[in-house]
Amino acid sequence: MSRLTVFRARRIRTLDLGRPVADAVAVKAGRIVSVGSFESMRPWLEREPYTVNEQFADRVIYPGFIDPHTHFRMSGVFMGLTYVGPLDQHGPRGFNQGLRSREAVVAKLREVDGAATDPTQPILAWGLDPAVQGGQFHRDELDEISTTRPIWTITYAPHVIVANSPMLALAGVDESTNVYGVERYQDGRLNGQFIERTATQLATRPVAKYLNEPGRGVQAIRALGSVAQRAGITTTAEMIFGYFDNEREFAEHQEVVEDPSFPLRMLLVPIEGRIRAEHGEACAAHLLELQKSNTEKLGFHGVKFVNDGSYPAMTLRLRTPGYLDGREGHRGETPWEDMVEAMLPYWQAGVQIHAHANGDETVAMTLDTLEQLQLIHPRFDHRFTIEHYCISTPDQARRLKALGGLASVNNYFVHYRSQIHATEGFGPDRSEATARLGSLEREGVVFALHSDFSLVLTPISPLTAVWIAVNRLALDETTVQAPGERIGLERAPRAITIDAAHVLRRDHEIGSIEVGKLADFTVLDDDPYDVTVSAIRDIGVHATVLGGEVFPCNE
Ligand SMILES: [Zn+2]
Repeated sequence: MSRLTVFRARRIRTLDLGRPVADAVAVKAGRIVSVGSFESMRPWLEREPYTVNEQFADRVIYPGFIDPHTHFRMSGVFMGLTYVGPLDQHGPRGFNQGLRSREAVVAKLREVDGAATDPTQPILAWGLDPAVQGGQFHRDELDEISTTRPIWTITYAPHVIVANSPMLALAGVDESTNVYGVERYQDGRLNGQFIERTATQLATRPVAKYLNEPGRGVQAIRALGSVAQRAGITTTAEMIFGYFDNEREFAEHQEVVEDPSFPLRMLLVPIEGRIRAEHGEACAAHLLELQKSNTEKLGFHGVKFVNDGSYPAMTLRLRTPGYLDGREGHRGETPWEDMVEAMLPYWQAGVQIHAHANGDETVAMTLDTLEQLQLIHPRFDHRFTIEHYCISTPDQARRLKALGGLASVNNYFVHYRSQIHATEGFGPDRSEATARLGSLEREGVVFALHSDFSLVLTPISPLTAVWIAVNRLALDETTVQAPGERIGLERAPRAITIDAAHVLRRDHEIGSIEVGKLADFTVLDDDPYDVTVSAIRDIGVHATVLGGEVFPCNE
């Protein structure tokens, strides 16, 4: 679109705090030329022909929403597997009824076993929620379903993989295996569980060819991109790029994202373990080289470290008094004692570090690491980001600020999971205080909100994240969880727009409606400021605009 176009709206919330409200925005060649009123932009309109677009005249325009942490390719691929989760779910092969009990999960796996004709075809299942479906699977239980057909099951995300005996054999794992995260029964026998990345990589090898069947990755990115667009998202970051294969995954993303019909911009954040394995000492230089061919729609950004496990799968690391049942949780691929050394090349080269830390023990270790990095090589505006920041303490927010770090927080758990984990895993105190946004705000830390879609049993909906941030209402729709950790409506929308752009180092290009920025908008049926705070999650998303192109949200 090279002709000047003026979009008129009932209201425009610019998220440029110096000029917060407008009702017209002029766009040309994908960028914003002027924002204000039809009158204020006359000096532009007098000089060249223009079109007035009134299609949003009754609606409210926000900057395009940004979800800075998703996993479209991986979760879209899992959606094609046998679903055993508790929530109703629409998969590529149709609607899946949620399975409410352990018995229903086992019955489903037996049914798939009985229906398969090829005896060597493995069963690949995903979606188990150990907190509400009776705990993790284990080997003997899966062997009762079949001792001949390999079975491979994961929780929502592959933080925990459980295999039966034939699958253990395929993975080349036997009683002599000694790998971190390959778990055992109390009597010392392998229990079939593989926890966190070092172990899960081992368990995934024999099934990679099924997960990477031609077309699956492309179909996954396209399908989840469409779900995200309908939630109002115009930019996201793939936070586990290169899980299976760098070149192949990049080719798939190029095919989908660079297609003009795809409604999102996407940043690819490579996972550290693979980069280091493939490029050794040149790891940081390699990432900087990759960034040189970034386009406005698709590009590489930063590096991702996974420092502990998952919140819903209950593999994160907690400080004293730990888990209700005494378990310890798991660290990620990089041993914690090696963390400073592993992060240092990226830190020194200026590659932004995104460090996954779900539990308070992991947040503490990650802050210790950041402090060491600052001592070795002091930096400003490094944007070191703690990803998830689910269980933390107020002093950690203060320390994060002092060290110049940022947080990208999954706060959906406050609503969807905190009451479940009061009795399963974390206990009442840590569960109630999940996602301490109030503490981050009080300390002046810049933070974003993200969904981690779709690896964590929560939806993707930035408006829902804002609703949770200002209400902190639990699943019972009555209890307000840690009310002092709520934030106000003047702050929450920043976490899905301009502050999310800051976390991705794109706030000079996106995140607010300002002259010169990319013309990315989210068009809402109503303004969160005009409805009661309890109704923010019900506001309809009418359309998105990407570089001036309109994408309607109704299918
Ligand atoms: Zn993630």
